[in-house]
Amino acid sequence: MEFEFVCGWCDADCVVWGEPIVSWWTQKYRVDDFECWNCGTTCTPHDPPWTPAD
Ligand SMILES: [Zn+2]
Repeated sequence: MEFEFVCGWCDADCVVWGEPIVSWWTQKYRVDDFECWNCGTTCTPHDPPWTPAD
């Protein structure tokens, strides 16, 4: 599943892949640090909840 993050440096919207973590009781995802497509800065995802990207 993909999520939307806003780059902390240039405010660009970044769509980042969230890796599903398989669990019985809840649906969780793990998002690694991502590189902004616009400015190239490596960003660290903020804490959940995240905005799903359509
Ligand atoms: Zn950026």
